[in-house]
Formats: sequence, C-alpha cells, structure tokens
Amino acid sequence: MKYPKVRVDLKKLEHNVKELVDLCGKNGIKVAGVTKVFCGNPEIAKAYIRGGISYLADSRIENLIKLKDFKLPKILLRLPMISEVENVVKYADISLNSELDTMIALAKEANKRGKLHKVILMIDLGDLREGYFNEKDIYKAVEEILELKTIELIGIGTNLTCYGGVIPSEDNLGRLVNITRTIEERYNIDLQIISGGNSSSLHLLLNDKKIEDINMLRLGESLVLGFETAYGNRIQNTYDDAFQLSVEVIEIKEKPSLPVGEIGKDAFGKVPNFIDKGIRKRIICAIGKQDIELDGIIPVDEGITILGGSSDHIILDGTDSKINYKIGDKLKFKLTYSGILRVMTSEYVKKDIT
Ligand SMILES: *Cc1c(COP(=O)(O)O)cnc(C)c1O
Repeated sequence: MKYPKVRVDLKKLEHNVKELVDLCGKNGIKVAGVTKVFCGNPEIAKAYIRGGISYLADSRIENLIKLKDFKLPKILLRLPMISEVENVVKYADISLNSELDTMIALAKEANKRGKLHKVILMIDLGDLREGYFNEKDIYKAVEEILELKTIELIGIGTNLTCYGGVIPSEDNLGRLVNITRTIEERYNIDLQIISGGNSSSLHLLLNDKKIEDINMLRLGESLVLGFETAYGNRIQNTYDDAFQLSVEVIEIKEKPSLPVGEIGKDAFGKVPNFIDKGIRKRIICAIGKQDIELDGIIPVDEGITILGGSSDHIILDGTDSKINYKIGDKLKFKLTYSGILRVMTSEYVKKDIT
C-alpha cells in the first residue's frame, strides 16, 4: 500500500449511521446522508445505505452523478447553478432552492425531459446563508412556484450553524413548522417534508427536546465523526476514527527550535513566529498543505505536536513521544470534518476503503 493513505473503516461508519438513524427514527425523522465529505464515493455511500439512511444528499452534482445507480432519492444540497440545470434535473430527484429564476430554469429543463423536479424551499431563520428571509417573500415565492407545472414543491427546509453560527432551537425550528402550516392552509397544498437542518439540530434530540413535525435532517459530520455540531459534544456509542490518515516519516533530526539567520516570509508569504525550546527531535512526513490543513489532523500519538508545514511536508515535534520512530515508519492521525474533506479530495492521498 502506498502513502499517504486514508483508511476508511466501513463497519465503524455503518455503526455510526445506524445509531443516528435510530435516534432520528424514534423522533419521526428520516436521515438524508450527506456524502460531500467523501466526494460521493459509492463504496462509502453503501455503508450509509446499509446503516439505514432514507436519502442520499450532496452539495455537488458531480458527486450525485457518481451515486446515480443507487435507488434512494438524491438531494442536491447547494442551490443549483442555472448553468448546471440539465444535470440537476437528470441526476437529482430533489434540490434545495431559494431563487425563482433558478426554479424557472429547472422547470424548463424538466419540461424538456418530460420529468417532474422536486423542490425544497429554503428559509433563512437567521444564520444568513441561503434561503428566503422575509415571510412575505416566502409566500410570494410559493405562489410563483405553484405556477410551474414541472416543479413540485415537496417541502420547506432550513440550514443553521453554517455561516452565522446560529444554534437550532425549539423557537427557530418552531417558526419553520409554523411557516409550513401557513403555506399548507393558504394554498391548500400538502408539504411532505420539513427539513430541519444538519448535524447541529441533533443536540435537541439528544437532550429529549421535541422538534415536533420536523421530519428530515441532513446529516454529514455526525455520521462520519459522531459529533453533534451545535456544541461540539460527542454522541455516545459512536466512533470518531472511521477515517484515519497514515503518513510516512522521511526525516528525523535533532535541530534547534529557532531558525538560523534573518527571518523573512515562509512558503505561504507569512512571517513566522517561533518559541525557543532548545534542541528538539523534529520529524518530517510526506504530506503537505496541498492535501491537508494543519489543524485538520490530530496525531494519535499524544507525544507528537505539529510544528508547521509547507505544500508537501509537515514538520512534527517528536521529542516528547515515547516511541522511537525510524525513517519509513507510518504516523497515524485522526481527522476533523474539514480534515476528512481535504484528504478525500486530494488525489495524492490513497484511499483504503475496507
Ligand atoms: C453540508 C450540508 C449539510 C450537512 O451538514 P453537517 O453539519 O455535516 O451535518 C446539510 N445541509 C446542507 C445544505 C449542507 O450543505
């Protein structure tokens, strides 16, 4: 096997998915399994499916195309670009939307293909990423969507804790439910889906708070890492190491902790800062900022600290480790959510999916 390598443990991942599908199921909620962090890899998506998700969801249409052979309904999470409506209608059963121009383009494309495209209308409850903000605009949008014969409005959704860091609560999600009921009454339609956010909504379920009538959550980080993301708490009985990175040691030397000579800019144009800790054992591994971000990887050996890196190297301090590393050894790292995203996206990191 070649390095650097990310090992994906499908059993651990499936276990996480089952736990969360179960928790959501008890609350009348179906899980849309978000596949963007592993670039829509079909092998990994299968573990989601075995775990019991009800929808496959991804922000990029390229990833949904990779998942086209799976039967589960597919949701495009990022608002569609008008330039991609052809593929959206072809490969996504449902898309999240907040712009009428885009929905008109989707309707035209659906008409051309003799299809009905399903839409979840996005409402911004204050986090200030996507969605209609003013209620007046929501109802106006609904009226206009109902005129589009090849678009079916199947539900309402929101996204929280993404830009503004706003935490889902009984209050703001209650407002989402109220808006849904108002739409149903006013326009005499039935909205099947109320999509109440992402992994940050789980804290309500974990603390036995009712989020009545919410019947879908779109989960990514909680499935792959076993965290709820409102407060960053671990979810009991889940794994945080279903994805693990291994990198190879290419140099070990005793060196001073202060560079020698006049200090200018580093490889990324920043003037670096150093603390003098005397002579330290420095370990260089063959992976760099092209493949990872330094705060996205967590050494499994607690005696190791990350000093820095450039595009193709990371530099570690191994002085406090109990292990006597040799050239060619492999060091293991746990990953944050964006750490997983980066290594799964890098074509230089081998994928060991078992
Ligand atoms: C990425 C994404 C999610 C999943 O978020 P997690 O915090 O990883 O659960 C849900 N909804 C939308 C719209 C997204 O873009």
